Amino acid sequence: MVDVLRSDFITQGPAIQAFEDAFATYTGAKYAVAVSSATAGLHLACLASSLSSGDTMWTSPITFVASANCGRYCNAEVDFVDIDPCTYNLSVNELEKKLRHAKEKNTLPKVLIPVHLSGQPCEMEAIHTLAKEYGVHIIEDASHAIGASYQSNKVGACQFSDMTVFSFHPVKIITTAEGGMITTNSKELYDKLIRLRTHGITRDPKLMTESAQNEGSWYYQQLELGFNYRITDLQAALGCSQLKRLDEFVTTRHQLAKRYNTGLANLPVTLPFQHHDTYSAYHLYIIRLQTESLTLTHKDVFEGLRANGIGVNLHYIPVHTQPYYQSLGFKQGDFPNAEHYYQEAISLPLYPDLSVAEQDRVINVLRSLLKPH
Ligand SMILES: *Cc1c(COP(=O)(O)O)cnc(C)c1O
Repeated sequence: MVDVLRSDFITQGPAIQAFEDAFATYTGAKYAVAVSSATAGLHLACLASSLSSGDTMWTSPITFVASANCGRYCNAEVDFVDIDPCTYNLSVNELEKKLRHAKEKNTLPKVLIPVHLSGQPCEMEAIHTLAKEYGVHIIEDASHAIGASYQSNKVGACQFSDMTVFSFHPVKIITTAEGGMITTNSKELYDKLIRLRTHGITRDPKLMTESAQNEGSWYYQQLELGFNYRITDLQAALGCSQLKRLDEFVTTRHQLAKRYNTGLANLPVTLPFQHHDTYSAYHLYIIRLQTESLTLTHKDVFEGLRANGIGVNLHYIPVHTQPYYQSLGFKQGDFPNAEHYYQEAISLPLYPDLSVAEQDRVINVLRSLLKPH
């Protein structure tokens, strides 16, 4: 970052390309496009998929609102696929049923956004097979999943998707303060993303209309309506140095997750299920309280942990229950597995600097809250 400050560019300079190249190499994708946030990345990915008014986009109800909002930015309808009660990712069974139904009614979605909740990849091969059968574009929301693998590939390789979007917000696995990345293997999508990231402007004479012929070297053309969704060189430099530490961060997260698994065994909680095809990035460690065998409520346990200074969280409030989405016609009861999950889920503190003593304290406080009263 100091080098960037001393250089000629603090934005639109060479650090961005270096970050993109390092990211493409890491994930195994052909192309990477750095953007100002994952939200911007999701918006651009939807635009590059030609999502617009009259189209539909589907995602999971258990995600951050940005996974759904990107469809609304394109004036598309948004709908949800209920979650799998085991992985908490969108359910392949529900997806299959919903696609079959949508085909009959001629309401198939143009885009599907599977979200790799907590860093565990969705069942991408099965999702991809269905998406191909029904002609649906796939954009992976991998905001939690940098450093994760699916089968033998890193998430972001886009083996089973058109594009993958990552977040570098400070709460995520690596950070650039704000920032995001889109990966793809399609040259056509890559060119579109690059253009849309900067106002829809091109300086490539091959892409310009005829009127460019007699213009000088100052000339550029705006071909479509794009945005300023750029990341800065300062942030990209931070991203490059963070990327070097990524595998170490994820390894530590796995070690801590394993300690939780041991420390929480035999308590009335469901521990994170890991599908055999996946290597999670463990962005989150989510437990579910077996509320039927507890005297305390979910809220009591959550507030009890907070009262003891433990920074627990709840990922996420089902998106379809947000007032904005209710105003679009969704209602309580629409996605029962997601709503049931929300009644029981708690994210425990998990980050590479979490000490063994701190983690033991989390386990002990939880243990004392959950013991029969
Ligand atoms: C954090 C997050 C986003 C948004 O990321 P920003 O970089 O803050 O825009 C989108 N989707 C999910 C699942 C996230 O966790």
